[in-house]
Amino acid sequence: MDKKLTPTFDREVQCTYCEYSFTTTKIRSRFIRPVSTDTLFFTTYEDPDINPLLYHVHVCPYCGYASNDQFSTSIPLHLRKVIQNNLSSRWNHQDFTGKRSYKKAINAFKLCILTALLKEEKPVVLAGLYLRTAWLYQYTEDPEQVERFMRLALVTYEKAYEQDRLDDPKMTPLKVLYLIGELHRRLGHDREAIQYFSKVIEKKKDFIDPKVVEMARDQWQLTRQERKKVHAQ
Ligand SMILES: [Zn+2]
Repeated sequence: MDKKLTPTFDREVQCTYCEYSFTTTKIRSRFIRPVSTDTLFFTTYEDPDINPLLYHVHVCPYCGYASNDQFSTSIPLHLRKVIQNNLSSRWNHQDFTGKRSYKKAINAFKLCILTALLKEEKPVVLAGLYLRTAWLYQYTEDPEQVERFMRLALVTYEKAYEQDRLDDPKMTPLKVLYLIGELHRRLGHDREAIQYFSKVIEKKKDFIDPKVVEMARDQWQLTRQERKKVHAQ
């Protein structure tokens, strides 16, 4: 390995809204060392500073428009006006390039959520931002905010399942159903959790995602066992 190679590098991106080109920091994949991933895909890393999630969002320093790689690259004219009135005209220049702390990453995600709402981005993209914000709060050990963003992710994944064409192989309809089930379970809604895990198992023939089916089976069993324990007390 080249000794001079640093864990991060700069990538140039162009703002969809104002077309300004700016650099955003990314982590080289060979430096990313995950340690564990839980049942809600929350991943811990050997070095907490080398966490790709910190750099998931690109923020345009010129206008404040923030996005990730899942955003669509077109903005209808009437929504450009909405973004101008609610974001770019109020933007005080802030720079998100270079090293990000967890606090700074959370601020970048909040800007990205605001942008997604203003430009009416697909629910599945918005739900992913809520879930990732919940993860960031989990690293900073803020359970109230974790719960708040898990609730937002839950209702938005429910909307995504109803409305979106889920054609990304990394986010199949089965995975969305699984996430809804697991978010219900984490929020203490056992009955709903069991219903959604059952749906994943019922629909397993319609989509190819064996890992998610296996996770749904495990979590279905776990939720039922936990329910039994509660009822036995
Ligand atoms: Zn911009």
